[in-house]
Amino acid sequence: DGGHGGEDEGCAREGVREKDINLDIAIQLQKKLSDIGYQVIMIREGDQYKAKEERVEMANEAGAHIYVSIHQNACDKPEVKGVETWYDGKDGSRDSKRLAQLIHQETLKSTGALSREVKDNAEFHVTGKTKMPACLIETGFLSNKEEREKLGTKEYQEKIVEGIVQGIEYYFYPNTMYLTFDRGPSVESTNKILDVLKEKKIKATFFLVGERVRQNPEIARKIVANGHTIGISSFKEDDSEIYQSVDNYIEDFEEAYKAVLEVTGVGVKIFQFPQENMDNSEKIRELIIQEMTARGFVYYDWNVKLKDELISEGVEELIKNAKERVMGKEKVVLLAHDTAYNTALYLDRLIEQFPEYKMEVLTEDVDPILLGKE
Ligand SMILES: [Zn+2]
Repeated sequence: DGGHGGEDEGCAREGVREKDINLDIAIQLQKKLSDIGYQVIMIREGDQYKAKEERVEMANEAGAHIYVSIHQNACDKPEVKGVETWYDGKDGSRDSKRLAQLIHQETLKSTGALSREVKDNAEFHVTGKTKMPACLIETGFLSNKEEREKLGTKEYQEKIVEGIVQGIEYYFYPNTMYLTFDRGPSVESTNKILDVLKEKKIKATFFLVGERVRQNPEIARKIVANGHTIGISSFKEDDSEIYQSVDNYIEDFEEAYKAVLEVTGVGVKIFQFPQENMDNSEKIRELIIQEMTARGFVYYDWNVKLKDELISEGVEELIKNAKERVMGKEKVVLLAHDTAYNTALYLDRLIEQFPEYKMEVLTEDVDPILLGKE
């Protein structure tokens, strides 16, 4: 939807009219999306007036999968500039937030423009009355000289289009993230983490410590009841001896297996090593994986470590680090700890950082992910 059109010019400054720029971008967007296989329905293909009701009706009747409205901004202060993206936060089932976040984020990347907000209180007809996920992006300020000049050029419009296309691509074809929580269950944090995951409708994987399962049976059962996957980290809380030989490991694992089975009724299929003890024992690690694989268990590596067990790092730092380490990876197994109190407190915000990822659970049906440590 290239906003405005016909008698409705939108905003204008120094002869640059919003309706023209919106249409230019929409036409390029249509071409680019069609080239890579999307079916695009244009609300207007020329300088026509379309009422907002008509726009919404077109999208709803076509059964469109997403609705993207393109606009330009203006205000009284000439220094104000940047990209703003809006969605209607009232209907959480429509997934408009993720669409808005992705289009916003990718357009910032492709243009280098200043980020203004992603706003959930859009009162626009096109974001509120459409039935599909919808957002409205204001790609710049015509009242800002620098942006107005850029917005009129083909090169800059192409950058905007590139960003919107990438956002749409991530929306339909997200990368995969497996959230894993290691070394619990713990009284302080696991319950909180389960609440956040439930609210966000995300399933995760918990690699448990057998001794802790015995100590906190209700929490272990709740993990299973909420539909998350369970794996084994170790039986003993102090796992320093476990990795000295394959026999030591197997003995400990069997105890953990039994504890989880008796408490939760789940016969665990997958396991992970707590990284701390494995640094100097690559050989043992390989032998253990070999033996466990022969016994029908599946080992999963992680490739991004949250470092949440390091109390010295502040929350902002942890989130920033996670973002940097995750960036661009198609598959991420994120190692976090449900023994770290902070993790429960900012998990919500952490997940918000990754709209381009779909969160999945590890099960024995997922091919082993051996990614190499960072
Ligand atoms: Zn507008």
